[in-house]
Amino acid sequence: MAMKQMTGLASAMMLGISGRIAKAFPQSSSAPAPAAPTGPFTLPPLPYAYDALEPYFDAETMHLHHDKHHKSYVDKLNAAVAGHPDISSRTVYDLVANLDAAPMELLTAIRNQGGGHANHSFWWETLGKGGAAPAGELAKAIDAKFGSFSAFQEKFTSAASGVFGSGWAWLSRLPNNTLIIETTANQDSPLTVGHTPVVGIDVWEHAYYLKYKNKRPDYIKAYFSVVNWDAVSAKYAAQTKA
Ligand code: MN
Repeated sequence: MAMKQMTGLASAMMLGISGRIAKAFPQSSSAPAPAAPTGPFTLPPLPYAYDALEPYFDAETMHLHHDKHHKSYVDKLNAAVAGHPDISSRTVYDLVANLDAAPMELLTAIRNQGGGHANHSFWWETLGKGGAAPAGELAKAIDAKFGSFSAFQEKFTSAASGVFGSGWAWLSRLPNNTLIIETTANQDSPLTVGHTPVVGIDVWEHAYYLKYKNKRPDYIKAYFSVVNWDAVSAKYAAQTKA
């Protein structure tokens, strides 16, 4: 009896100690982390520092948005396409652009998780502090379609403000090379309807709630200070080159 009690006490003490060790050293290599989800899709690193878009997009939001939200789309997409080598060998842009060809059992995962991966991967590359306004061919196309850059900004702001619930607003290029402002719900992509996004804004609350709370218009205004118009204009010129 006494022996049993001792053993029980010793066990409890050991558990207590190991519990404290685990808490103090969460990265301890003695407790292997759960296996990371394997490919084929990978989370691209942010092409700049987390605080590069301060004070407009705060570092904490960028951390959460990239490391948690975007990563979650990638992980769930990988889980869904496991065992489908025909799907997992294609690019995520190709998958969302050909949603109608997706196997029925993967349709929702590709639309939502694939769309989330595609939209965010595209988005990070359009942000940065390079140029205050469109240049070259893109500037000409915006002027031709909307009259001026500020007129475009007004229409784009109105579209982004009007998205009900979660979604995106986009400036997209149509197959006939004219521009259109459009919105998509959830993680739907313009690629699915044959449009090529030029820029877009994520208006899910996870994109702005920490800093801007419920004030989506303030966030949209801030967005215009972190569009890398130099990069966006160069990409547009390359894509539309005759
Ligand atoms: Mn997002």
